[in-house]
Amino acid sequence: MQRIWISEITGKVGQEVALCGWVNGRRDMGKLVFIDLRDRSGIVQVVFPSGNQELAKVAGDLRPEFVVSVRGKVNARPPKQVNPNLPTGTVEVEALEAVILNQAKTPPFEIDKDTAGVSEETRLAYRYLDLRSERMRKNLELRHRMIKFFRDWLSERGFLEIETPMLTKGTPEGAREFIVPSRLHPGKFYVLPQSPQQFKQLLMVAGVERYFQIARALRDEDQRGDRQPEHTQLDMEMSFVDQNDVLELVEEMMMAMVKAVAPEKKINAIPFPRIPYDQAMKKYKSDKPDLRRNPGDPDELAFAWIVDFPMFEKGDDGKINAMHHPFTSVHEEDLLDSDPLRVHAKQYDLVLNGYELASGSIRIHRRDLQNKVFKVLGLSDEEIERRFGHMLRAFEYGAPPHGGIAPGIDRLAMLLAGEPNIREVIAFPKTGDARDLLMGAPSEVSASQLREVHIQIIKDKKGNPSTCLPDRQARLRAGKRGN
Ligand code: ASP
Repeated sequence: MQRIWISEITGKVGQEVALCGWVNGRRDMGKLVFIDLRDRSGIVQVVFPSGNQELAKVAGDLRPEFVVSVRGKVNARPPKQVNPNLPTGTVEVEALEAVILNQAKTPPFEIDKDTAGVSEETRLAYRYLDLRSERMRKNLELRHRMIKFFRDWLSERGFLEIETPMLTKGTPEGAREFIVPSRLHPGKFYVLPQSPQQFKQLLMVAGVERYFQIARALRDEDQRGDRQPEHTQLDMEMSFVDQNDVLELVEEMMMAMVKAVAPEKKINAIPFPRIPYDQAMKKYKSDKPDLRRNPGDPDELAFAWIVDFPMFEKGDDGKINAMHHPFTSVHEEDLLDSDPLRVHAKQYDLVLNGYELASGSIRIHRRDLQNKVFKVLGLSDEEIERRFGHMLRAFEYGAPPHGGIAPGIDRLAMLLAGEPNIREVIAFPKTGDARDLLMGAPSEVSASQLREVHIQIIKDKKGNPSTCLPDRQARLRAGKRGN
């Protein structure tokens, strides 16, 4: 007999069905044992009558989280026993046959209740149990529906989903990068992408015209707020567009997505307000203002665009940095040489309820302009060639005007789910200090693995991995002060 989802059961009164799932709860009433059987789609009450010895044995053995298959008859519950709190509360299943497929130890926390109050260390170490809880399952489903919506919506508009490499070369997005040693090329390293920025631009040079990817962005950042070393972006790029085209398309997509995925939410201003950066800083002292009228309303969504960012900013070290990234095009090209800090970028951010949801820009597609921006950033000709020669060369072969954006999937899912942090909408997140408590990463690797990739770990006197270089160690040991 083919197994059905529990959510399908209410339409099957009088029929025999096969169900599979986990024991969510068990109530022994002496003559009858009631099991709340849970699968991914929901929960249903299964009654084990005492008359049948075999069934009574199974019912007696069942404990929370045991895995069972049940064949049974769907009965309508008498009106008094209808449970209005359960979507399947109008019916129950009378067990005819039951098999224990696997046993389970007592879980370290209760799965039939919201796990929000359980210590996060425990939840993350036993994430496969945490994800069985209703809220976490709903969050995974919401995230899935959101991503599917974007995929379908963009595909219908001629966007191609294209994967770009994970083992690549650095791309400046303002964060530290994860590096991967090469075994085949001693002393050389791959860099994990902070974003597919350069590849998506090269896809525009390749004539793809409309690209998207559900892309993982990897950033080796210090512990800072609600950050993850890997996060997911809806990475997009388009050719022959100006800023207004990108803003309008993304706005239409976001409105349609909210309507399809979270129809209970209300967007408080359409079209989304467009606020120049200077004005936002003056009025709200922030480039991600929270424009909700009633921040207490969990269903209010206040989107806004922040536009006209400065192209450059001066770092604490006095160096000029790109505010977004150096591939961003500019408004006042003529000021690049004389007064770069007055130049505005064709950059736009989408903010939602005080969070930066997306960043994007119209890109540079001319070699001379790109070169000039690199120069403003203080790069030498040699460095420009070494790091970005491939981009400059690509621009010489008919690069179309293009631009794009990358909305953060985790943040969007968090805001739609009404969760306080992005870990609640990521299946296997890391802790605030970048540890994976379930798998136990990061971890040591064997001496032979290290040898293969030509890496040697410097140890201090006690044999622990050292954080300083050997010559400094030697000087410290000799009682001299190191720098
Ligand atoms: N690559 C940028 C980022 O990751 C987004 C973009 O400019 O499209 O923030």
